[in-house]
Amino acid sequence: MRKNIFTYMLILLVCILPYNNVHASTELQIDRLIENEQKQKEISKKINELDLELKKEESESIEVISISFLEEDMDLVEEKEYSLQENKKALEKELENIMIDSIQIQKSIEKEKKEYLDKNNLSFIPGIWPLKSYYEISSAYGQRIHPITKKANFHRGIDIPAPKSTEILASDDGIVEFSGSQNGYGNVVKVKHFDGKTTVYAHNSYNRVNKGDIVKKGQAIAEVGSTGNSTGNHVHFEILLNGETTNPIDGVIK
Ligand SMILES: [Zn+2]
Repeated sequence: MRKNIFTYMLILLVCILPYNNVHASTELQIDRLIENEQKQKEISKKINELDLELKKEESESIEVISISFLEEDMDLVEEKEYSLQENKKALEKELENIMIDSIQIQKSIEKEKKEYLDKNNLSFIPGIWPLKSYYEISSAYGQRIHPITKKANFHRGIDIPAPKSTEILASDDGIVEFSGSQNGYGNVVKVKHFDGKTTVYAHNSYNRVNKGDIVKKGQAIAEVGSTGNSTGNHVHFEILLNGETTNPIDGVIK
């Protein structure tokens, strides 16, 4: 009897493990993407510092030429310049390798998501509600009379009112495609996710992320505001699939 229980548990464990591994590996891959992003920033900073040093060396070498005719002085200056150039080359190579690694990781996450979608016959994976504690919708998705123009128009998202500066959360893991100001939207953040969907968060008082940033599900990416065509503090939230808007209510788990 005891043996049977163990066998049963073992079978159960074997069944659960591969499922957990897929998700755990996606998590790890996203962590690695974020790590790479940090490294890229650090290396770019070092390259800029080397550039400044090189410029300084070049101007000093001109001075040496004009005041000294000693071979040794010249050699010393050239040697320093050479080693700076070599350092820069090595850093550039490192940067390139990290960028290639990031692209490969992104491709691998996208492949995993695609396989999951195909297997479960889904067009995308629902994300999370973009605000904590605020769930009321003041304007639904679809045809409506615009609150400012008073004309019939199509509302591309849902409006969720919340006090100014409430944190707006990334609905899913992804890459910031746009962060800035746009007509009508005011301050807006657009995030491209690995399953193919894009989410939009508009009228923000402040955007906390920049284009190209990797964001994690639930990370605060902006703050609620009333910028652009808006009559009060709220987040205008959209979900796009293949460039077309869809009702966000169907795309998030409250
Ligand atoms: Zn809206």
